[in-house]
Amino acid sequence: MMQPEKQLAKWLDELGRVSDEEGKLTRTFLSPAMRRANRTVATWMSAAGLAPREDAAGNLIGRLEGSTSKAKTLLLGSHLDTVRDAGRFDGAVGVLLPIAALAELRRRKVKLPFAVEVLGFSEEEGVRFSSAYLGSKAFTGTLGSADLRLRDAQGISVREALEHVNGRTFSLPRAAHHTKELLGYLEVHIEQGPLLEAKQLAVGVVSGIAGQTRCELRFRGKAGHAGTTPMVLRRDALAGAAEFVTHVERVAQALEPLVATVGTLTVRPGAPNVIPGEVVLSLDVRHPRDQARESALRDLVARARVIAKGRGLALTSKIKQQNGAVACSPLLKDLLDRSVQKVQGRSLSLVSGAGHDAVVMSALTSIAMLFVRCREGLSHHPDEYASPADLRMALAVVVDFLERLAHRESL
Ligand SMILES: [Zn+2]
Repeated sequence: MMQPEKQLAKWLDELGRVSDEEGKLTRTFLSPAMRRANRTVATWMSAAGLAPREDAAGNLIGRLEGSTSKAKTLLLGSHLDTVRDAGRFDGAVGVLLPIAALAELRRRKVKLPFAVEVLGFSEEEGVRFSSAYLGSKAFTGTLGSADLRLRDAQGISVREALEHVNGRTFSLPRAAHHTKELLGYLEVHIEQGPLLEAKQLAVGVVSGIAGQTRCELRFRGKAGHAGTTPMVLRRDALAGAAEFVTHVERVAQALEPLVATVGTLTVRPGAPNVIPGEVVLSLDVRHPRDQARESALRDLVARARVIAKGRGLALTSKIKQQNGAVACSPLLKDLLDRSVQKVQGRSLSLVSGAGHDAVVMSALTSIAMLFVRCREGLSHHPDEYASPADLRMALAVVVDFLERLAHRESL
């Protein structure tokens, strides 16, 4: 085998060409390209000494047994699906880099006392069924019957898609492991943000994943003729919503690390000569601490109410989706910090503002994440880029982390 970092770069190139669309990178849940990606990565797993298999949800699992029969299992992984017209690094790094790390340990004849599974999840991005984490939910036994009823743009349900691929009935899987059999889950991922670049560091250790609430606010006023309704008699829902949007921005700017975003705005009836009678907007609020997120959200909605009242508008709000913050395991984070200090000279702790498979995996086991710098923080874009030098450093960190954990487990 070639040098591990060269091997990793080659694998990333090759996997980056496995696509459902000509000329751009797109791999969605159970698509032909996903099937090819699993087959391709499985051969790389085998070459590194792992035994690959696929579960009924299309997840690729490569297992390496530990040196003792009662050994616990460490999970390492990320997702192999992509957004449409994606970059080559999101997800792929977290699957291929651990394979390269294990190949390197094998080359050095280091035998780990624990078992390792490298996981390539079949679905994280939520492209095909507008619902994320189907792969890791199946692996952790948290996939529900509502997930199976989701339908894609062609009207095919998750259940039908799975049964077509497997050629047999699909029943909801149980968790692939008992919590007590596991040492934890490590996910290596590009940062998808600008902090490492700003600090001129190749890698950083994630302290936790921010909690997130997505809600919908509806301002209701009265539509009317834009020419004949005097300004004092108007109940303009958009003018009220606009006041709210700038308030959201001001509050989040003042309460770092809170981030809050109004991402969609629907104006009705939506004509140039009609006063807006109704506006529906989305509000996304994230914070590493649940309490801070919840109180910020309460204050924002209360302020929306005040703004609405002052303008004679009605306001309703509805929570659409909510995920609590997830803390990384202090023990795994500490080991990872030491590895980063050794390889990079210093470590940096970061909060992940984006959700990852690690969020779902936290229901099963303790989690840790290593972030790798990506150019301009750009992701979900064909220009997404992590340099070979940064990937080499991340690889050295994971090799060192595995050795540290091995040392700790054999005490
Ligand atoms: Zn990702």
